[in-house]
Amino acid sequence: MKIGIIGCAGRMGKTLVQEISATKGCKVSGGVERSGSPDVGRDIGENSGIGRLGIKISGNIEQLVKDSDAVIDFTSPESTVKVATLASKYKKIHIIGTTGLSEKDKESIKKSAKSATIVMAPNMSIGVNLLASLVEKVASILDESYDIEIVEMHHNRKVDAPSGTALALGNAAAAGRKVKLADVADKVRDGHTGARKKGEIGFAVLRGGDVVGDHTVMFATEGERIELIHKASSRAVFAKGAVRAALWANNKKPGLYSMKDVIGKF
Ligand code: NAD
Repeated sequence: MKIGIIGCAGRMGKTLVQEISATKGCKVSGGVERSGSPDVGRDIGENSGIGRLGIKISGNIEQLVKDSDAVIDFTSPESTVKVATLASKYKKIHIIGTTGLSEKDKESIKKSAKSATIVMAPNMSIGVNLLASLVEKVASILDESYDIEIVEMHHNRKVDAPSGTALALGNAAAAGRKVKLADVADKVRDGHTGARKKGEIGFAVLRGGDVVGDHTVMFATEGERIELIHKASSRAVFAKGAVRAALWANNKKPGLYSMKDVIGKF
Protein backbone atom coordinates (compact mmCIF):
# COMPACT_ATOMS: atom_id res chain seq x y z
CA MET A 1 0.00 0.00 0.00
CA LYS A 2 1.39 3.41 -1.01
CA ILE A 3 0.96 5.83 1.90
CA GLY A 4 1.65 9.57 1.71
CA ILE A 5 2.24 11.74 4.75
CA ILE A 6 0.83 15.24 5.08
CA GLY A 7 2.94 17.35 7.47
CA CYS A 8 5.79 14.82 7.18
CA ALA A 9 8.33 17.00 9.04
CA GLY A 10 6.15 17.46 12.13
CA ARG A 11 6.46 15.45 15.36
CA MET A 12 3.84 12.91 14.21
CA GLY A 13 4.89 13.16 10.56
CA LYS A 14 8.45 11.95 11.30
CA THR A 15 7.12 9.12 13.48
CA LEU A 16 4.80 8.09 10.62
CA VAL A 17 7.70 7.96 8.13
CA GLN A 18 9.48 5.58 10.55
CA GLU A 19 6.37 3.46 11.16
CA ILE A 20 5.28 3.11 7.51
CA SER A 21 8.83 2.20 6.44
CA ALA A 22 8.90 -0.52 9.13
CA THR A 23 5.47 -2.00 8.26
CA LYS A 24 5.28 -4.99 5.91
CA GLY A 25 3.09 -4.29 2.88
CA CYS A 26 3.39 -0.51 3.25
CA LYS A 27 5.57 1.98 1.42
CA VAL A 28 6.09 5.73 1.83
CA SER A 29 4.82 7.27 -1.43
CA GLY A 30 5.93 10.76 -0.44
CA GLY A 31 5.42 13.56 2.02
CA VAL A 32 4.41 17.18 1.95
CA GLU A 33 5.10 20.18 4.11
CA ARG A 34 3.63 23.68 3.99
CA SER A 35 4.97 25.78 1.13
CA GLY A 36 7.91 27.88 2.27
CA SER A 37 8.92 25.29 4.87
CA PRO A 38 12.72 24.81 5.04
CA ASP A 39 12.08 21.03 5.00
CA VAL A 40 10.75 21.08 1.40
CA GLY A 41 13.42 19.50 -0.86
CA ARG A 42 15.04 17.47 1.95
CA ASP A 43 15.13 13.66 1.85
CA ILE A 44 12.09 12.43 3.82
CA GLY A 45 13.99 9.48 5.38
CA GLU A 46 17.02 11.53 6.44
CA ASN A 47 14.69 14.16 7.85
CA SER A 48 13.00 11.47 9.97
CA GLY A 49 16.24 9.94 11.28
CA ILE A 50 16.03 6.63 9.35
CA GLY A 51 18.51 7.37 6.56
CA ARG A 52 18.03 8.16 2.89
CA LEU A 53 14.79 6.98 1.21
CA GLY A 54 15.42 8.81 -2.08
CA ILE A 55 12.13 10.75 -1.78
CA LYS A 56 12.19 14.55 -1.55
CA ILE A 57 9.68 16.34 0.71
CA SER A 58 7.37 18.32 -1.57
CA GLY A 59 4.91 21.20 -1.23
CA ASN A 60 2.35 19.75 -3.66
CA ILE A 61 -0.50 18.14 -1.69
CA GLU A 62 -2.66 17.39 -4.74
CA GLN A 63 0.11 15.44 -6.47
CA LEU A 64 0.76 13.41 -3.29
CA VAL A 65 -2.93 12.52 -2.91
CA LYS A 66 -3.00 11.42 -6.61
CA ASP A 67 0.16 9.30 -6.20
CA SER A 68 -0.97 7.52 -2.99
CA ASP A 69 -3.50 4.83 -2.06
CA ALA A 70 -3.90 6.54 1.32
CA VAL A 71 -2.70 9.73 2.97
CA ILE A 72 -2.16 10.10 6.71
CA ASP A 73 -2.69 13.57 8.05
CA PHE A 74 -1.66 14.93 11.47
CA THR A 75 -1.50 18.67 10.67
CA SER A 76 -3.90 21.57 11.25
CA PRO A 77 -7.69 21.85 10.78
CA GLU A 78 -7.32 24.17 7.76
CA SER A 79 -4.98 21.78 5.96
CA THR A 80 -7.03 18.69 6.89
CA VAL A 81 -10.26 20.09 5.43
CA LYS A 82 -8.39 20.81 2.17
CA VAL A 83 -6.84 17.32 2.05
CA ALA A 84 -10.27 15.71 2.62
CA THR A 85 -11.60 17.59 -0.43
CA LEU A 86 -8.71 16.25 -2.53
CA ALA A 87 -9.18 12.71 -1.15
CA SER A 88 -12.81 13.00 -2.25
CA LYS A 89 -11.84 14.27 -5.74
CA TYR A 90 -9.48 11.30 -6.31
CA LYS A 91 -11.56 8.74 -4.28
CA LYS A 92 -8.68 7.94 -1.90
CA ILE A 93 -8.24 6.92 1.74
CA HIS A 94 -7.68 9.77 4.20
CA ILE A 95 -6.61 9.01 7.78
CA ILE A 96 -7.16 12.06 10.01
CA GLY A 97 -5.36 12.45 13.34
CA THR A 98 -5.58 16.26 13.43
CA THR A 99 -7.38 17.65 16.49
CA GLY A 100 -9.02 21.02 17.20
CA LEU A 101 -11.49 20.66 14.29
CA SER A 102 -14.56 22.93 14.49
CA GLU A 103 -18.11 21.70 13.86
CA LYS A 104 -17.91 23.42 10.44
CA ASP A 105 -14.67 21.55 9.63
CA LYS A 106 -16.30 18.25 10.63
CA GLU A 107 -19.33 18.98 8.42
CA SER A 108 -17.04 19.63 5.46
CA ILE A 109 -15.10 16.37 6.14
CA LYS A 110 -18.40 14.49 6.33
CA LYS A 111 -19.30 15.78 2.85
CA SER A 112 -15.89 14.67 1.49
CA ALA A 113 -16.53 11.20 2.95
CA LYS A 114 -19.26 10.66 0.33
CA SER A 115 -16.48 9.79 -2.15
CA ALA A 116 -13.41 9.33 0.08
CA THR A 117 -12.83 6.61 2.70
CA ILE A 118 -12.01 8.61 5.82
CA VAL A 119 -11.00 7.34 9.25
CA MET A 120 -10.94 10.16 11.79
CA ALA A 121 -9.97 9.82 15.46
CA PRO A 122 -8.65 12.33 18.00
CA ASN A 123 -6.55 9.50 19.42
CA MET A 124 -5.33 6.55 17.37
CA SER A 125 -3.86 4.49 20.23
CA ILE A 126 -5.49 1.18 21.15
CA GLY A 127 -5.11 2.00 24.86
CA VAL A 128 -7.04 5.28 24.70
CA ASN A 129 -9.83 3.72 22.64
CA LEU A 130 -10.10 0.95 25.27
CA LEU A 131 -10.10 3.64 27.99
CA ALA A 132 -13.00 5.43 26.24
CA SER A 133 -15.12 2.28 26.25
CA LEU A 134 -14.29 1.68 29.96
CA VAL A 135 -15.25 5.30 30.76
CA GLU A 136 -18.60 4.89 28.97
CA LYS A 137 -19.28 1.68 30.90
CA VAL A 138 -18.36 3.14 34.32
CA ALA A 139 -20.39 6.31 33.62
CA SER A 140 -23.41 4.18 32.76
CA ILE A 141 -23.16 2.36 36.11
CA LEU A 142 -22.45 5.28 38.48
CA ASP A 143 -25.12 7.95 39.00
CA GLU A 144 -24.69 11.73 39.29
CA SER A 145 -23.51 11.45 42.92
CA TYR A 146 -20.15 10.61 41.27
CA ASP A 147 -18.57 13.80 39.90
CA ILE A 148 -16.75 13.23 36.60
CA GLU A 149 -13.53 15.23 36.12
CA ILE A 150 -11.10 14.83 33.21
CA VAL A 151 -7.47 15.95 33.58
CA GLU A 152 -5.04 16.02 30.67
CA MET A 153 -1.38 17.00 30.28
CA HIS A 154 0.57 17.56 27.06
CA HIS A 155 3.88 19.06 25.92
CA ASN A 156 4.31 22.84 25.86
CA ARG A 157 3.86 23.20 22.07
CA LYS A 158 0.33 21.82 21.85
CA VAL A 159 -2.02 24.43 20.35
CA ASP A 160 -5.55 23.21 21.18
CA ALA A 161 -7.21 22.70 24.60
CA PRO A 162 -8.75 20.61 26.06
CA SER A 163 -7.09 17.91 23.95
CA GLY A 164 -9.17 16.10 21.34
CA THR A 165 -8.70 12.97 23.44
CA ALA A 166 -10.00 14.63 26.62
CA LEU A 167 -13.09 15.75 24.68
CA ALA A 168 -13.54 12.23 23.26
CA LEU A 169 -13.35 10.83 26.82
CA GLY A 170 -15.89 13.48 27.87
CA ASN A 171 -18.18 12.35 25.05
CA ALA A 172 -17.78 8.73 26.16
CA ALA A 173 -18.73 9.67 29.76
CA ALA A 174 -21.69 11.71 28.51
CA ALA A 175 -22.83 8.81 26.30
CA GLY A 176 -22.70 6.50 29.35
CA ARG A 177 -24.96 8.94 31.21
CA LYS A 178 -27.19 9.42 28.15
CA VAL A 179 -26.60 13.19 28.03
CA LYS A 180 -24.92 15.54 25.54
CA LEU A 181 -21.41 16.69 26.49
CA ALA A 182 -22.19 20.23 25.27
CA ASP A 183 -24.99 20.46 27.88
CA VAL A 184 -22.86 19.36 30.86
CA ALA A 185 -19.24 20.29 30.06
CA ASP A 186 -17.39 22.81 32.24
CA LYS A 187 -14.13 23.67 30.47
CA VAL A 188 -13.14 26.88 32.25
CA ARG A 189 -13.16 27.59 35.99
CA ASP A 190 -11.80 30.90 37.21
CA GLY A 191 -12.69 33.23 40.06
CA HIS A 192 -15.82 32.88 42.20
CA THR A 193 -17.48 30.04 40.28
CA GLY A 194 -19.90 28.84 42.96
CA ALA A 195 -20.22 25.17 43.90
CA ARG A 196 -19.87 22.43 41.33
CA LYS A 197 -23.14 21.64 39.54
CA LYS A 198 -24.48 18.11 39.82
CA GLY A 199 -24.00 16.09 36.62
CA GLU A 200 -21.31 18.41 35.28
CA ILE A 201 -18.29 16.94 33.44
CA GLY A 202 -15.26 19.10 34.31
CA PHE A 203 -12.00 19.51 32.40
CA ALA A 204 -8.54 20.58 33.59
CA VAL A 205 -5.65 21.22 31.23
CA LEU A 206 -1.91 21.09 32.02
CA ARG A 207 0.87 22.03 29.56
CA GLY A 208 4.58 21.48 30.06
CA GLY A 209 7.84 19.89 28.90
CA ASP A 210 7.76 16.99 26.47
CA VAL A 211 4.72 15.07 27.76
CA VAL A 212 3.32 12.99 24.85
CA GLY A 213 -0.18 12.73 26.38
CA ASP A 214 -1.59 11.85 29.84
CA HIS A 215 -5.33 11.53 30.50
CA THR A 216 -7.14 10.77 33.76
CA VAL A 217 -10.90 10.36 34.14
CA MET A 218 -12.06 10.62 37.76
CA PHE A 219 -15.35 9.55 39.29
CA ALA A 220 -15.37 11.23 42.73
CA THR A 221 -18.03 10.88 45.41
CA GLU A 222 -18.28 11.11 49.22
CA GLY A 223 -15.69 8.71 50.64
CA GLU A 224 -14.17 7.28 47.45
CA ARG A 225 -12.76 8.09 44.04
CA ILE A 226 -12.19 5.91 40.95
CA GLU A 227 -9.47 7.04 38.51
CA LEU A 228 -8.98 5.61 35.02
CA ILE A 229 -5.60 6.67 33.64
CA HIS A 230 -3.81 6.43 30.28
CA LYS A 231 -0.23 7.64 29.71
CA ALA A 232 1.38 7.68 26.27
CA SER A 233 5.18 7.65 26.45
CA SER A 234 5.83 7.38 22.70
CA ARG A 235 4.19 8.89 19.59
CA ALA A 236 4.71 5.50 17.92
CA VAL A 237 1.41 4.27 19.45
CA PHE A 238 -0.52 6.91 17.45
CA ALA A 239 1.45 6.18 14.25
CA LYS A 240 0.86 2.41 14.61
CA GLY A 241 -2.88 3.05 15.01
CA ALA A 242 -2.93 5.34 11.96
CA VAL A 243 -1.15 2.76 9.76
CA ARG A 244 -3.50 0.05 11.04
CA ALA A 245 -6.43 2.32 10.09
CA ALA A 246 -5.02 2.83 6.55
CA LEU A 247 -4.62 -0.94 6.03
CA TRP A 248 -8.13 -1.54 7.40
CA ALA A 249 -9.62 1.12 5.08
CA ASN A 250 -8.22 -0.55 1.96
CA ASN A 251 -11.18 -1.67 -0.20
CA LYS A 252 -13.74 -0.26 2.27
CA LYS A 253 -16.65 1.73 0.85
CA PRO A 254 -16.41 5.55 1.02
CA GLY A 255 -17.66 6.89 4.35
CA LEU A 256 -16.60 8.43 7.64
CA TYR A 257 -15.21 5.83 10.06
CA SER A 258 -13.68 5.95 13.56
CA MET A 259 -11.09 3.86 15.42
CA LYS A 260 -14.02 1.93 16.92
CA ASP A 261 -14.71 0.62 13.41
CA VAL A 262 -11.03 -0.23 12.91
CA ILE A 263 -10.52 -1.99 16.25
CA GLY A 264 -13.99 -3.54 16.57
CA LYS A 265 -15.86 -3.90 19.87
CA PHE A 266 -13.84 -4.41 23.06
P1 NAD B 1 3.52 19.47 14.63
O1 NAD B 1 3.30 20.93 14.69
O2 NAD B 1 4.82 18.92 15.12
O3 NAD B 1 3.33 18.94 13.12
C1 NAD B 1 2.36 19.42 12.23
C2 NAD B 1 3.04 19.49 10.86
O4 NAD B 1 2.04 19.76 9.88
C3 NAD B 1 4.06 20.64 10.78
O5 NAD B 1 5.29 20.12 10.29
C4 NAD B 1 3.43 21.63 9.81
O6 NAD B 1 4.36 22.34 9.05
C5 NAD B 1 2.58 20.67 8.95
N1 NAD B 1 1.51 21.38 8.22
C6 NAD B 1 0.59 22.24 8.72
N2 NAD B 1 -0.19 22.71 7.72
C7 NAD B 1 0.24 22.11 6.57
C8 NAD B 1 -0.15 22.18 5.21
N3 NAD B 1 -1.15 22.97 4.81
N4 NAD B 1 0.51 21.42 4.31
C9 NAD B 1 1.51 20.62 4.69
N5 NAD B 1 1.97 20.52 5.97
C10 NAD B 1 1.32 21.26 6.90
O7 NAD B 1 2.30 18.81 15.43
P2 NAD B 1 2.11 17.30 15.95
O8 NAD B 1 2.49 17.22 17.39
O9 NAD B 1 2.72 16.34 14.98
O10 NAD B 1 0.51 17.20 15.91
C11 NAD B 1 -0.22 17.45 14.72
C12 NAD B 1 -1.69 17.24 14.97
O11 NAD B 1 -1.96 15.87 15.32
C13 NAD B 1 -2.28 18.07 16.15
O12 NAD B 1 -3.59 18.45 15.82
C14 NAD B 1 -2.27 17.07 17.30
O13 NAD B 1 -3.20 17.39 18.31
C15 NAD B 1 -2.66 15.82 16.57
N6 NAD B 1 -2.32 14.55 17.23
C16 NAD B 1 -3.25 13.56 17.14
C17 NAD B 1 -2.98 12.31 17.64
C18 NAD B 1 -3.98 11.20 17.41
O14 NAD B 1 -3.74 10.05 17.85
N7 NAD B 1 -5.08 11.45 16.72
C19 NAD B 1 -1.76 12.06 18.29
C20 NAD B 1 -0.82 13.10 18.35
C21 NAD B 1 -1.10 14.34 17.80
